[in-house]
Amino acid sequence: METKMNPHNKMEYPPMHTTEHILNQTMIQIFGCERSKNSHIERRKSKCDYILTTAPTPEQMQIVEDKVNEIIRQNLPITVSYTNINEVPECIDLSKLPQDVSQTLRLVSVGNYDICACIGEHINNTSEIGIFKIISYNFEDCKLRVRFKLV
Ligand SMILES: [Zn+2]
Repeated sequence: METKMNPHNKMEYPPMHTTEHILNQTMIQIFGCERSKNSHIERRKSKCDYILTTAPTPEQMQIVEDKVNEIIRQNLPITVSYTNINEVPECIDLSKLPQDVSQTLRLVSVGNYDICACIGEHINNTSEIGIFKIISYNFEDCKLRVRFKLV
């Protein structure tokens, strides 16, 4: 079995990056959109873009923030497993992976809430995140940009 993994292209702040996983799953559940394919994750503040057909209401964005915090507060473990790329469950979105992806995929789970293929660095438990806060968001040309921080 091929065990060599593709290198990660950048170092991301693990609590923020793990929050990105939770935010992605929350966006899928609330808006039925796809995971963010354009994100910029930094220690102080981050942003993720999502493709939506209509503008979200302030109430919906509040629900997003509340849901992410509800998940964080559950003190969920973040666990890693490995699978062959041909045996990946259908629910896992592989569209963000590079063309030259290795045969072995690293799957990262946030409790039972989210699972996705990722080679980034994560924390061990959502209790390490703190509180998720949406700083601002804007919607233009079907693109929702969410800016957020951890406090
Ligand atoms: Zn990740």
